[in-house]
Amino acid sequence: MKNEMTVIFSATSENEAFARNTVAAFCVALDPTVDQINDIKTAVSEAVTNSIVHAYPTSSAENKISITTSIEDDTVHIVVSDNGIGIDNIEDAMQPFYTTKPDQERSGMGFTVMESFMDELRVEPNLPNGTVVSMTKTIRGADWKKKKL
Ligand code: ATP
Ligand code: MG
Repeated sequence: MKNEMTVIFSATSENEAFARNTVAAFCVALDPTVDQINDIKTAVSEAVTNSIVHAYPTSSAENKISITTSIEDDTVHIVVSDNGIGIDNIEDAMQPFYTTKPDQERSGMGFTVMESFMDELRVEPNLPNGTVVSMTKTIRGADWKKKKL
């Protein structure tokens, strides 16, 4: 059976820890290892930080980020979306070390980190405006190991 939750919150750095820990808590149902849960937290943190830092040029509590997390069998699917300025060239943005904010000590490694810590990463426009980041990870947890024995 599929299990799903959505959280919507203001795009402010105060909410970054809330976002990653909320998704991690939901994923505990899959019995992940500490490494797996840390991978998910890191990927969510990168995606949410991007929406906070890049999506909205002016800060306002009305700037929102939405995260939908769903679990189906042993796979978690996480969708982080904002309604901000969007990404002009997604292909360029996903290249390692590509950043539009080098002055703010950004290294351009966010998407590369998401890609390496998750099994799948997709970045798309959130029409009519904004960005949608979809990530998938399969959790081979204790239950799975038991079944294989
Ligand atoms: P780092 O993540 O290493 O601090 P970064 O955020 O610049 O640096 P990435 O996370 O890889 O690097 O993102 C690459 C670029 O894509 C950003 O510099 C920004 O121009 C654009 N970008 C990413 N996410 C968004 C978003 N949600 N809205 C608008 N632009 C974005
Ligand atoms: Mg980033």
